[in-house]
Amino acid sequence: LLDVRDLAVAFRGTRVVHGVSFTVEAGETVALVGESGSGKSVTALSCLQLLPAAGSNPAGSILLDGVDVLRAPERELQRLRGGVAGMVFQEPMTSLNPLHSIGRQVGEAVTLHQPLSGNALRARVVELLTRAGFPEAEARLAAFPHQLSGGQRQRVMIAAALANDPKLLIADEPTTALDVTIQAQILELLARLKRELSMAMLLITHDLAIVRRHADRVVVMKDGVAVEQGRVAEVFGNPAHAYTRMLLATEP
Ligand code: ATP
Ligand code: MG
Repeated sequence: LLDVRDLAVAFRGTRVVHGVSFTVEAGETVALVGESGSGKSVTALSCLQLLPAAGSNPAGSILLDGVDVLRAPERELQRLRGGVAGMVFQEPMTSLNPLHSIGRQVGEAVTLHQPLSGNALRARVVELLTRAGFPEAEARLAAFPHQLSGGQRQRVMIAAALANDPKLLIADEPTTALDVTIQAQILELLARLKRELSMAMLLITHDLAIVRRHADRVVVMKDGVAVEQGRVAEVFGNPAHAYTRMLLATEP
């Protein structure tokens, strides 16, 4: 489904990702772990060609559903974004528009790919929010992001990301901004939706416990390089790279 080969990204001559290769097969969860600044988000954004156009010059190739993302025309990218792969970001406040109601924003995600309007659109938005565990969605369509809790905002983001039944969900630290109980709820929700919708997931996290619980395979990144990857039980049970051993040894 996703095949990243020799991805290299540099900003103004500084390489922040180099020679990263990994795959995500249909239906599986692959975790991307590594310390802050190791290039996880840059890698995730590259998969939908969402890096700033100027200066990043990604090299290598990224096949998403058979399309070479780094060379695809804008029209094709628009089909892939949301339609084939949805994305949930680290901090929902940066990706929700503070001036637009949540109903409007989820509706806009729907109409990117589906010609719905009026009551049919409204019903679909309520369905998506409800599926994402948003409480009393119908009554709260007119709410603005700042009127919600962090967990509720993340549920809105999830509803929008899944609006077009993508085959892949890219979740970039979907719970770091939330408290521990809400973190667990959101992750269980993602895991359940993933099963129900037969999606694959690229899950970016710092938390090795989350990797153990939710991922089939893991890719360990350090300084822009994928230093080790494999099935979670194998990599964590018998880490080949010193950095992976250090991560496991310093786990809280
Ligand atoms: P975190 O765990 O903190 O989210 P990360 O692994 O996601 O970290 P990235 O956000 O991928 O790290 O950043 C990797 C490197 O690329 C960092 O040094 C960062 O400063 C740099 N970088 C990311 N985006 C840009 C950008 N738009 N312009 C310039 N440099 C950038
Ligand atoms: Mg990041």
